[in-house]
Amino acid sequence: MVDAKKVKEKISKVSEKVFSGSKNQAHKHCRICHKPISINAEPRVCKNVECVNKNDRDERNQKQMRLWMFIFFGLFAFSFVGPLILNLI
Ligand SMILES: [Zn+2]
Repeated sequence: MVDAKKVKEKISKVSEKVFSGSKNQAHKHCRICHKPISINAEPRVCKNVECVNKNDRDERNQKQMRLWMFIFFGLFAFSFVGPLILNLI
């Protein structure tokens, strides 16, 4: 099976080589605009305000998504376990 993540990694590695020539500096890329940034940059965005804001928003969305998945999973589990518990009482 083709691992999409690995393919993406490979493509980004290749394009890195193409764009940065032969110098092989250790660096990361802004996860929003993909500009090279310092390897110590945390969170993984450049100093562009737009990128910082977008990253912020994305992280909040992700947290919210996880919360909703948790809630749905809880409801899903309860719809199985709930009746069993009620039957036992
Ligand atoms: Zn950026």
